[in-house]
Amino acid sequence: MAETTPANSGQPRRKRPPPRPVNVERVEQVSPRLTRVTFTGERLADFGPSKPGGHIKLLFVPDGVQWNPDDPNDETPRPPSRTYTPRFYDQGARELGVEFVHHGAGLASDWAHAAKPGDPMFIGGPGGGYDVAEDTTKIVIVADDTAMPAAGMVLEALPIGCDAEVLCEVTDGGDERDLSPSVASAPIWLHRAKDGARPGALLEDAVRGIARDNGLSHWWIACEAATMRRIRDFLLDEIGVDGEKLHNRGYWRLGESNYPDHDYGKD
Ligand SMILES: Cc1cc2nc3c(=O)[nH]c(=O)nc-3n(C[C@H](O)[C@H](O)[C@H](O)COP(=O)(O)OP(=O)(O)OC[C@H]3O[C@@H](n4cnc5c(N)ncnc54)[C@H](O)[C@@H]3O)c2cc1C
Repeated sequence: MAETTPANSGQPRRKRPPPRPVNVERVEQVSPRLTRVTFTGERLADFGPSKPGGHIKLLFVPDGVQWNPDDPNDETPRPPSRTYTPRFYDQGARELGVEFVHHGAGLASDWAHAAKPGDPMFIGGPGGGYDVAEDTTKIVIVADDTAMPAAGMVLEALPIGCDAEVLCEVTDGGDERDLSPSVASAPIWLHRAKDGARPGALLEDAVRGIARDNGLSHWWIACEAATMRRIRDFLLDEIGVDGEKLHNRGYWRLGESNYPDHDYGKD
C-alpha cells in the first residue's frame, strides 16, 4: 500500500496515516488451519470501516529493531509487510480481528502460528475493496481459504434478497466453517487434499460447471493469482460475462513470496 495516492492516478495526492501500533489481544484457533488474531490499540479508534474485500498491511518489525512510523526523521527501513483482510472491526472496543490461513512456511503464516496476547504489530490501511452494485440480485462468490474472510464481508454487504452462490476451496473438511456470524450461506465446499489437486484447480473446474447458468450474474473472485486469471479469461471470453459485473483479485501466487496486493488480472 503506497503512503500516498500515486501521482499518475489522476486523483489528488492524499497522505495516508502512518501504520498504527497495536498489540495482540486474543488468539483463537478457528479451525486446524485458521487462526483468528484480534488486535487492540487506541489508534484503532479512527481505523474506520473497510469496504468488503478491502485490505490492510501488517508490518513485521524484526526482533531488536525500533521503528517509529510517526517520526518523519526515523530512518529505520520500512519493515516487511503482508496483505490481510480487516475482517472484524469494533470501533468501541478498539479491536480488529484478522484471520490467518496456515499455508506452510511464510513470514505472516509463521507469525500467526506463534502469536500470543501482548505481541506487537503495526497495521497500515485500510484500503481498496469492492463496491456492491445496488441492483445486484444474483452473485457468484469464488474464494479459496485466504479469501474466506473477505467473502464473509461481501455476503454481509449484499442487498436484502440477493441470491448468492458460493464456491470455497479449502484443504479438507476441517477447514469448513460459517463465512459470517450474521448472514447464512451454504457454500459448495471443494477439498483439494482429497485428489491432491493444485491450488485453484477445483475452483476453476467448479466455475466451468456453473458459469453458463450464471452469465448474467455478478461475480466476486479472489484466490491464487494464476487461477484468478484463468477464471477471469474464461468468464469474459467464453461465457461473455459483462466486465462491469466481474470483480477479481489475486490474493497470492504459487511459489512467490509477498505477492503484490493489486493484481486485478487486467495486464
Ligand atoms: C487483498 C488481500 C487480502 C488477503 N486477505 C487474507 C486473509 O484475510 N487471510 C489470509 O490468510 N490471507 C490473506 N491474503 C493472502 C496473503 O496475503 C498471502 O497468503 C501471503 O502470501 C501470506 O504471507 P506469508 O508471509 O505467510 O507467505 P509469503 O512469504 O508471502 O509466501 C511464502 C510461500 O508461501 C506460498 N503461499 C502464500 N500463500 C499461500 C496459500 N494460501 N497457500 C499455499 N501457499 C501459499 C507462496 O507462494 C510462497 O511460496 C490476502 C491477500 C490479499 C491480496
